[in-house]
Amino acid sequence: MPTATSLRRPALAADLLQRYEARTPRSAALHAEALESLPGGDTRTGTFFLPYPVYMARGNGVRMWDVDGHEYRDFLGNYTSLIHGHAHPHITAAIAEQAARGTAFPFPGESALRLAAEIRGRVPSMERLRFCNSGTEAVIGAVRAARAFTGRAKVLKMEGGYHGSSDIAQVSVSPGLDGAAYPNGRGQGPGVPDGVVHDVLVTPFNDLEMVQRVVRAHRHELAAAILEPCLTAAGVIPAEREFLVGLREVTQECGVLLILDEIITLRLARGGAQALYGVVPDLTTVAKIIGGGLPVGAFGGRADIMATFDPRARGTVGHSGTFNGNAVTMAAGRAAMDLLTDDALTHINTLGARLRDGMQRAFDGASVPACVTGTGSLAHVHFRSGPVREYRDAARGDQELGKLLHLALLERGFACAPRGMFATSTVMTATDVDALLGAVEEVAPWLARLENEVI
Ligand code: PMP
Repeated sequence: MPTATSLRRPALAADLLQRYEARTPRSAALHAEALESLPGGDTRTGTFFLPYPVYMARGNGVRMWDVDGHEYRDFLGNYTSLIHGHAHPHITAAIAEQAARGTAFPFPGESALRLAAEIRGRVPSMERLRFCNSGTEAVIGAVRAARAFTGRAKVLKMEGGYHGSSDIAQVSVSPGLDGAAYPNGRGQGPGVPDGVVHDVLVTPFNDLEMVQRVVRAHRHELAAAILEPCLTAAGVIPAEREFLVGLREVTQECGVLLILDEIITLRLARGGAQALYGVVPDLTTVAKIIGGGLPVGAFGGRADIMATFDPRARGTVGHSGTFNGNAVTMAAGRAAMDLLTDDALTHINTLGARLRDGMQRAFDGASVPACVTGTGSLAHVHFRSGPVREYRDAARGDQELGKLLHLALLERGFACAPRGMFATSTVMTATDVDALLGAVEEVAPWLARLENEVI
C-alpha cells in the first residue's frame, strides 16, 4: 500500500495534501475515531484513500456535502449504483412507503416478481433470475449454477477483471505487471487458498487468440468463462466486438457457459451491453442500479440452467439469503427502473461522451500523457498515452497522477473514484459536466509539471 509520504514528487503534492488536511478537520477526527473500531479506519476496500477519506454527511441529486460542510458534485454515484443521484424523491417515496409496511418477510412478496419481470423484459437472456444482496453474491450464484449445470469446477476470468470479493473472484484482479504466466492466476493477497486459485484460469482482456486456445485446451474441466463486456475496475476498457463475439462462439463450441457480469454495464443500454454487442450469454449478473440505492444483486439466464435452483426438484442447488428479494429493496429497485427510460439512458450517455471528449482535450492541451477510456456514461483517465486495451496497458499508467487528480478534484468540489473513474447520472446536466471539465483544465497544467518532476 503506498503511503502519502511515498509520493515520488513530494514538493508539489505536499501542498495539496496540506490543503486537504486543513479543509477536512472533522473528517480527520472521525478517521482517528474510526481507527479504534475498524482496521485502518476502513470497512470497504476500494473506497479508502490516503491520507484519509472525507466523510460524507448527506447527498441530494447530483450533490453531496461532507462533514466539514464542503459541497461536491458526485461523478461516482456510489460506484455507479446511484444512476438517479442521491435521495431521488420517487425512490425515497417508494422506500418510505414500503418501510412503513414492513421491510422484509420470510415469505415471497409481489414486488420481487414485478422487479424480476422488469429485468427480464429488459434483458431477455435472463429467462429466470434470482435475487441476492450484492454483486458479489450474484457472481457466487452464477458460478455455482454453471458448476452445477456442467459438473465442472474451473472458471476462466480476465486478468484485471473485478467480480466482487468472493474467493473465486479474488484472483488476478490487480496482479501487477509480473503476474503469473497465463492461464495461471494469482490470489489477490493472502487469504485466497491455492485450491481456489488453481480453479481459476486467467487470460488477458481483448486477446481472442489466447482465450480461444485456453477454452479449447480446458474444455473438459471448464464450467464457465466470466467477464464484463467492459473491463471496468481495471480502467473502463470496452471489449472489442470481435473479442466478445469470438468468445461467445468458442464457449458455445466447447460447451462452456458464458457469464456476462453486467453489474456495471447494465447502465449502458436498456438491455445492457449484451444488447449493444448482440451477444447472448448463458448467464448474467446484475446489481447496483437495480436496487435504487439499496444493497442488491441478481443473477439469471437460461431457464434450463436456472432450473438447478428450482426448490421443487430433487438435488436442488442451494441459494439462501435472509434478505434475498426483501420488500424494501425491491420497491426501491422498481422505482429506479421506472425512471430509467430510453431518454434517461440517452441523456447519461450523451453526458458521458461530453465528459470523455472534454477531458481528453484538457489533458492534450496541457501536454499531459493521458488516455481517457470509457463508453456510455462511464469514463476513466489513464495517465499514459493509448491505446489501453487490457489490464497490463492500464497497469503501466502513472497511478500516482491518478490519485493526485482525485484529490485535486475533491478540493474543487468534484468526486470521482480514487482510481480515476467517472460516471454520469440522470440528474446531471451539461452544466455539471462542463464545471468538472473546467476543474480538470485547471488541474491539468499542474499534473503536467508533476509528470516532469520524476525524481
Ligand atoms: N462485479 C462487478 C463488475 C462490479 O463492479 C462489482 C462492484 N463494484 C461487483 C461485481 C461486486 O458487487 P458488490 O459490490 O455489490 O458486491
